[in-house]
Amino acid sequence: MPRWRKSDREGVVSYRLARQRTIDAVAAGHRQQHEVCDAQPELRRVALHHATPLSDPCPLCEGDDLVMVTFAFGPGLPKAGRCVADQSELSRLRRRAKPTSCYRVEVCRQCWWNHLRESFELTSSPVAQTAP
Ligand SMILES: [Zn+2]
Repeated sequence: MPRWRKSDREGVVSYRLARQRTIDAVAAGHRQQHEVCDAQPELRRVALHHATPLSDPCPLCEGDDLVMVTFAFGPGLPKAGRCVADQSELSRLRRRAKPTSCYRVEVCRQCWWNHLRESFELTSSPVAQTAP
């Protein structure tokens, strides 16, 4: 899993508030846990094999197996997105010089809670070349 540098990303959108609303809705009984712990098979596979562990406990089951996965979307990539498994994959995507959107999703490998954490555009040139 890549260690994202600030220069790799721009236009970061956080989904923290939507995440908290979902957690609160379950806690209040407005949504059932099975409705939000519904990671699809491909997301489960990626979470098991190409994920970065998070130090936070799962907000639903409080288990300690919360991970982050990253998918990239853009021209020439699969419609379902490409899993960004490591730094070399990230570097390869940057060199494509095509617009690439990345989505980071947290997944609990115990209860299969999943939620989008953030999205951003992968920049194709180092920040040193674009800084004023
Ligand atoms: Zn969980």
